[in-house]
Amino acid sequence: MHNRDYWQSLLNQQRFSTHALIGGKPYFAKAEKTWAVVNPATNAVLAEVTACQAEDIDAAVESARQAFTSGIWSECPLAQRKAVLRRLADLMLEHREELALLESVSMGKPVLDAYNVDVPGAAHVISWYAESIDKIYDEVAPTRPGTLATITREPVGVVAAIVPWNFPLDIAAWKIGPALAAGNSVILKPSENSPFTALKLAELALEAGLPAGVLNVVTGLGIEAGAALGLHNDVDVLTFTGSTAVGKAFMAYSGQSNLKQVWLECGGKSANIIFANCQDLDLAAEKAAFGICFNQGEVCSANSRLLVERKIYPDFMAKLITRLHDWQPDHPLNPDAKMGAMVSTAHKNKVMDFIQTAVTQGGIVRAGGEQREIETVANYILPTVIEIESENVNLWRDEVFGPVLAVKVFDDESEAIELANNHIYALAASVWSDDLNQAHRVARKLNAGTVSVNTVDALDVTVPFGGNQQSGFGRDLSLHAFDKFTKLKTTWIELR
Ligand code: NAD
Repeated sequence: MHNRDYWQSLLNQQRFSTHALIGGKPYFAKAEKTWAVVNPATNAVLAEVTACQAEDIDAAVESARQAFTSGIWSECPLAQRKAVLRRLADLMLEHREELALLESVSMGKPVLDAYNVDVPGAAHVISWYAESIDKIYDEVAPTRPGTLATITREPVGVVAAIVPWNFPLDIAAWKIGPALAAGNSVILKPSENSPFTALKLAELALEAGLPAGVLNVVTGLGIEAGAALGLHNDVDVLTFTGSTAVGKAFMAYSGQSNLKQVWLECGGKSANIIFANCQDLDLAAEKAAFGICFNQGEVCSANSRLLVERKIYPDFMAKLITRLHDWQPDHPLNPDAKMGAMVSTAHKNKVMDFIQTAVTQGGIVRAGGEQREIETVANYILPTVIEIESENVNLWRDEVFGPVLAVKVFDDESEAIELANNHIYALAASVWSDDLNQAHRVARKLNAGTVSVNTVDALDVTVPFGGNQQSGFGRDLSLHAFDKFTKLKTTWIELR
């Protein structure tokens, strides 16, 4: 695979977009405001990007609404819609290197992870939804004789998709795939840390034949562009992935404006439970390390709470700490890097504060606990494991969004379930046990959108992803995602 110099030379030649994309054309905010997007591996500014304000959001919504009502996409033959989206998926793979580079330099993940995981994953999601377009049937209701009642799905209209920086391209694909497949027009707002792959995606969509105005990308700050979308009176559905605090703000925006439907994928603090009945503790340790270190731990469903049964505790901890040696941070453009830079210096400092607070609250650092400087930039954190006794410490209660694992010992199954479920978040959970009865029993009792048994973070486009409680509601991925982007119509016919 390409070496560091190859990626560096691509970066040297890379042209970064500085505009939004509205109505199929580059668009600059009327107020001429910008903000700087910074590469966390170098702290260098990549580009000053246009910062859309409410008046610019009006232009994007107008463009999306016009495209929708024209029927150019919403009423086009399904085979045509499918062909465009399939072509988009192909183009994403053709531009795999550039997309991977843009993703890595914006938010710090290893470029090879972006190349091997994020970009092909996003392209697969787009092609899966393209293929689903002509495989979904409507319904006929069992009404009384002499009547015919059909239940049909219609696109909702204008969809706003607001996405975070941790998987910018993948989460954008999770939203726009089903939204566009269903015939909607979309306004995508990427995070201020990572606008470039969203812009590239929209350019490729135009090249694939998506009509202008059907997919618009608005760049800008959350408090400006994001809030203006949330408060807009002509957005029908708003789908959000991000923090719980901002998710709550979107519920309020909806209430203050047109009561748009809001779908939230928010924070998490997923429990990973290792029972003494687990036969392969080596694999469990390897996956526990992956579950907290992959993507620098900047994963909503990261397995950030580890619960280990007392009988196996010393043995398992030794295995885990050995496996964490594989996850030393490195420069993201180094092809050997497994963990890259944290998204920003500010976020790195926040994660370090969590570590220090955990220690002052009685936590014992068993691994890591420190930041690292690589090529004069100290935006890296060592894989960290902290043992805690009480559930009432910040490290157990709050989402850290970094490679910091909180570990707690338990004595029996009911205690493990209670500890796992006693939380505001309920996104994902993992159970390790080779006792079939125990695995089923525990999986049923865990409050989580996804329970992985004998693995961590099971995910596929074919299965729904999302959480309960303050992790949000609604589901991305799978055919269930269409529930968010379609509305049901009953047509009742009295036969004569
Ligand atoms: P964030 O909530 O700060 O930002 C997410 C998006 O909302 C960004 O586009 C941002 O510009 C916008 N935004 C921020 N403040 C806003 C405001 N006041 N009004 C309107 N829009 C605003 O989240 P982040 O830091 O980008 O991402 C990390 C968070 O995302 C974590 O909490 C993580 O758990 C969550 N996340 C959840 C999932 C999931 O599927 N459940 C997946 C990935 C990330």
